[in-house]
Amino acid sequence: MEKISTLTIEEKEYFMKEAIKEAKKAELIAEVPIGAVVVLNGEIIGRGHNLRETSQNATAHAEMMAIQQACARLDNFRLEDTQLFVTLEPCPMCSGAILLSRIDEVYFGAYDPKGGTAGSLLNLLEDQRFNHWCYLESRVLEEECSQLLKTFFKALRQRKKADKQKEKENSEKD
Ligand SMILES: [Zn+2]
Repeated sequence: MEKISTLTIEEKEYFMKEAIKEAKKAELIAEVPIGAVVVLNGEIIGRGHNLRETSQNATAHAEMMAIQQACARLDNFRLEDTQLFVTLEPCPMCSGAILLSRIDEVYFGAYDPKGGTAGSLLNLLEDQRFNHWCYLESRVLEEECSQLLKTFFKALRQRKKADKQKEKENSEKD
């Protein structure tokens, strides 16, 4: 059975912008800028951003945070009739959480060719061998989502280079 989107382009862009706001919160605390929101009936019921470094927890991905908040809010592990927006293609863990929480529609911004399982390496979200599958849409505000990541990693590389240079200078002084 083919699943269809229940949202207009304007709604998709509005909610992706909210996910981007979450990604920017991550960036402010030196986390890789990835953000997510869960939406039910036009209302955001869960928000999250990547907190892997802050929490030193490999599972602290934006989608996990948003899903946990939405489940707590509804007091229900089933997030039926909801939409999830995330700035980067979900990884295997988050794709699993999306299926297990029965989210109906998933929208992401940028593809993650090295880790994504919503079309890049695998497509877990549309695999109809599972007892739940999703409507899936990629490249929603893709440019903005991927630019955030590019800028972040570029700054990180420059910082590392500057640190190395400083180290070198210090060792030459000794
Ligand atoms: Zn993930």
